[in-house]
Amino acid sequence: VLRSARLTDAGFRHGFTTRRGGVSPEPFATFHFGLPARGDEPPSAPVLRDRAENIRANVERLAQHVGFAPDRLFQVNQVHGARAVWAKGRPDDIRAEAADALLARLTELVTEAEVSVPAIGVRTADCVPILIGDRKTGAVAAIHAGWRGVVSGVVASALEALRASDAHARPIAAIGPCIEACCFEVGEDVAKRIVDAVGDASIAGRPTPAPRDERPDKRMVDLRRAVRAQLRSLGVEEGDIEDVGGCTRCDASLYFSYRRDGEVSGRHLSVIVPRAASSARG
Ligand SMILES: [Zn+2]
Repeated sequence: VLRSARLTDAGFRHGFTTRRGGVSPEPFATFHFGLPARGDEPPSAPVLRDRAENIRANVERLAQHVGFAPDRLFQVNQVHGARAVWAKGRPDDIRAEAADALLARLTELVTEAEVSVPAIGVRTADCVPILIGDRKTGAVAAIHAGWRGVVSGVVASALEALRASDAHARPIAAIGPCIEACCFEVGEDVAKRIVDAVGDASIAGRPTPAPRDERPDKRMVDLRRAVRAQLRSLGVEEGDIEDVGGCTRCDASLYFSYRRDGEVSGRHLSVIVPRAASSARG
């Protein structure tokens, strides 16, 4: 499990999982969090699934490691969109919601001391996981952003929701392990859509040297920098953005990768827990 020094210093329990430390067998070895059923993938996809008891055991290990109650872990049905939802009630209440950003905060009724503190998590296998903690209010966000999420504005949705609850939010953001510029090759059309959404042409590299008659022009795109540019344009300070981990496709010993492993790729979980508001911290 990887951590952001910035989030830790600001008092946020959190973690980005690697594939190490769990109980799942191959091809999901070993720390796999792809939830069975409840419709995350299209029903037609020939997805091999790990047993629910293994995933439950992995959640329990992560919960113990990071420090949250496993039955208070909120997740949503990720659809590569821009919708953000607050974790409220019980995890089952929002599990089927189509969304790609989750937020949570403590209220007067739910304090840090109680066992009912929520944890929020997003699943990824190449897409960019982003964990945000507001050092002023203690509210948190977990975001799943692939290129579609970057284009549709999921990062902005999450930050708007955070600021709607406190206009003076001072968010810290950690960008977790994802497919990086070395491996993220897309068509010219997709590259253009990402560049247009981010407003920074430098995130797209030169066309890759492929013979024109074999395939259309491709470009290498830096999704990690695209997310950083979006966070910056949304008012997050450069020094409050931290990169955590490396390229998921490059390092098979540490990460799952959908581009590398296809339908049998495992899923990482990136989790964060809200804390009490504080003017003394951070
Ligand atoms: Zn790579």
